[in-house]
Amino acid sequence: MPELPEVETTRRGIAPHVEGREIVEVIVRQASLRVPVPEDLVERLIGARIGELARRAKYLLVPLEGEAPGTLLWHLGMSGSLRMARLGELPKKHDHLDLVLDDGAILRYHDPRRFGFVDWLAGSAAQDSRLARLGPEPLSEAFDGERLFTRSRGRRLAVKPFLMDNAVVVGVGNIYAAEALFLAGIDPRRSAGRISRERYERLAAAVREVLAAAITQGGTTLRDFVGGTGEPGYFKQRLNVYGRDGQPCRRCGAELRLVTLGQRASVFCGHCQT
Ligand SMILES: [Zn+2]
Repeated sequence: MPELPEVETTRRGIAPHVEGREIVEVIVRQASLRVPVPEDLVERLIGARIGELARRAKYLLVPLEGEAPGTLLWHLGMSGSLRMARLGELPKKHDHLDLVLDDGAILRYHDPRRFGFVDWLAGSAAQDSRLARLGPEPLSEAFDGERLFTRSRGRRLAVKPFLMDNAVVVGVGNIYAAEALFLAGIDPRRSAGRISRERYERLAAAVREVLAAAITQGGTTLRDFVGGTGEPGYFKQRLNVYGRDGQPCRRCGAELRLVTLGQRASVFCGHCQT
């Protein structure tokens, strides 16, 4: 599933190819995504100029300038990806939407499971209800151990689902929560309200570390956004615990354990994480 680093990698990958360009054609091959493609999308987009791309949590924001200014709110869902295609490059199966730009380049949306969507918002995205409730960005100043400590007081919830709550901090999905808890040495089953301020400082630092590393690794495959597979590089990361249950801990050699927390599989080291 594309998580925050993959969306950020996508933003950085496509930005140089789309910013400042005018949309000259829109091809919708499949309108039935998680949110149906708005019927008037084509009409609104033709002739619009693309502004500076932004990201909020796992949403990609594409500002549009012109007669009908607005913002495209793009979510990649479970299996979506955006990449640049060249004029004349035939669409593949599951290539649902093309934005053809004035230099002939095509921004192409691919999504086999169709849990992603693209929606059009009038004006800026800040007032949209999907964005208004979100907690701070994990790589911003607003996110730190103090916030985790304060928000967790009185909470009996296990720390892993607490960390994955978008109202606490956005974009920390299953992979990165598991990896950050390993780096911070915290047992994912531990009650969020019983963890000290010092340990939350370590956890916040670990969240930043794993996300920043994942974005950097995604960055090494940026060329893939033009003419390549368009697959972000998140499986290339060196994962310590995610998906490694039954294998030895890289730090101590103990067998990694699997538990289910908040309906999500969670792998951890019972020796290094307390
Ligand atoms: Zn260990």
